Amino acid sequence: MPIRVLEKEVVSRIAAGEVVERPASVVKELVENSLDASSSQISIEVRGGGIGLIRVMDNGVGIPSGEVELAFDRYATSKIGSLDDLESINSLGFRGEALPSIAAVAQVDIVTCTVGESVGSYLSLKDGIAENKRSQGRSPGTTVTVRNLFRKVPARLKFLKSPATENSHIANVVCQYALAFPGVRFALFIDGRVVLRTPGNGQLIDSVIQVYGLEVAQNMLEIRSRDEDWESRAATSLPLVTGMIGSPAISRSSRSYLSFFVNRRWISSRLLAWAVDEAYHGLLMAGKHPVAIINISLPLNEVDVNIHPTKTEVKFQNERTVLGAVQKAIRRTLIEMAPVPKIEEVATAYGAPSPPRQLLWTPAESGISPTYSPPVAEQIPAVSLPVLRVLGQLASSYIIAEGPDGLYLIDQHAAHERILFEKIKRQRSHQEVEVQGLLEPVAFEVNPRQDEALKAHYENLAEFGFSIEPFGDRTYLVRAVPVLLHHKDWGGAVKELLDSLSGGDEGDWIEKIAISIACHSAVRAGQELTDDEMRELIRQLEQVATPHTCPHGRPIMIRLSSEQLRREFGRS
Ligand code: ADP
Ligand code: MG
Repeated sequence: MPIRVLEKEVVSRIAAGEVVERPASVVKELVENSLDASSSQISIEVRGGGIGLIRVMDNGVGIPSGEVELAFDRYATSKIGSLDDLESINSLGFRGEALPSIAAVAQVDIVTCTVGESVGSYLSLKDGIAENKRSQGRSPGTTVTVRNLFRKVPARLKFLKSPATENSHIANVVCQYALAFPGVRFALFIDGRVVLRTPGNGQLIDSVIQVYGLEVAQNMLEIRSRDEDWESRAATSLPLVTGMIGSPAISRSSRSYLSFFVNRRWISSRLLAWAVDEAYHGLLMAGKHPVAIINISLPLNEVDVNIHPTKTEVKFQNERTVLGAVQKAIRRTLIEMAPVPKIEEVATAYGAPSPPRQLLWTPAESGISPTYSPPVAEQIPAVSLPVLRVLGQLASSYIIAEGPDGLYLIDQHAAHERILFEKIKRQRSHQEVEVQGLLEPVAFEVNPRQDEALKAHYENLAEFGFSIEPFGDRTYLVRAVPVLLHHKDWGGAVKELLDSLSGGDEGDWIEKIAISIACHSAVRAGQELTDDEMRELIRQLEQVATPHTCPHGRPIMIRLSSEQLRREFGRS
């Protein structure tokens, strides 16, 4: 085929693909536009997973009648005017790509009116081309309605997940902006249901209550800026860190409760997530993550937001300073706000932060640096276990056992988790799940994101022994739970599970549910076991199909072979 310039329509469709990946991207762009328009109220309506309809209504400044069509031209923006402006962007949008991109892959109409105009304007577009324009009454503000998203892009449609998953992505976007802008009243309706409503009173805690629920909100600590921060900031333009963080008591098993906003732009950053985790070092169990809403304010010219079409990544001029400031603010809040002894208690209860573990028996000549060396665990071939003799328990967490070929240290929690995991899956596939009815149904409240996941997975949960039914706004009645979780924190297990199901890959929900039940019902580290209990646990472990790793993939045991022992003691 000869080289030729692509037609305008093809170019628009390609470019749209970068901005509009899924329905949640449309919601994100439209909400950003409403925020840039200084709205104090934003209402979002979604139907059919966002494919059927997305409508965002605001009370912002509106678009003057003469500019409505222009707003849908590619690279048409009112937010920057020159190359210099690109250095200091203080709006969420600036690329002038959202409206044309959305219009290229959906049917769009807009009704908008500015304060100065007596009547507003209506414009509808099809395939990105203006079709109908007329005057229409409206109070100041803008309503954009998007229908039949991706109807003409079957490749995209195919890639989308179930409506429930798309809804949960949408709920997440709106929740994030509700956290970033507590001064704006948000309302989100999905298929006619109220999913989120924030008061818009400027208090972050009130947004947190709506987004994460009361239980989380009660355990949030405010990151206080200190006067000296302001002073040093003025002098050195240090980043200012504000927001709220969760006390260690409400840790989560995923990072989805970490929100970062740079100059109020919602961004994702693995480095920042890592920095926050680090700041909690020693306060959370391994594999747990905190809840945190971190606002970073810094001079506009010290952050480059023009990295990616979706504007979700940024580049800091001085990354280290930013990471350092975030860690310092969190650490200080944790220390100041929680009584000191409590922190120490938590730290010891969860085991002191482990320095890189050095295994005594790492062969010196192997050249492996003296740090944690998981290969020892991997050396154990993935076949069933030999018969083991229990010798005792170490640190209330590990079982010491002797086998024909050496010494075994077995992580009791991981081992039990594996045993239960296989049992739970077996029971489910044979439809022999043991269910415990609750004496009284228990009301169970979830956050908007969890709500979407729960709606999608009721029946799946029932297969594992949960009887859960809707009971009003984001509240459910739980009538029965798996026997394994009776008298355990089944609420925590379900919430954690919903977090891991929301937005993620749904394919392996069976695994996820089984893992979550197993993890919450297994013996904990720190729990003393009798000899009989240890023997029983080892006996069961000998029977499982994969006794060497827990369902999360972590090693269950490490072995010190007789040969290693001899070598360590200098005998050949
Ligand atoms: P960008 O946000 O990058 O400028 P968009 O394509 O999203 O590009 O929007 C184009 C322009 O349309 C904006 O610059 C703004 O002037 C106007 N606009 C879009 N949405 C709204 C809204 N909700 N309220 C007021 N003006 C809007
Ligand atoms: Mg925009």
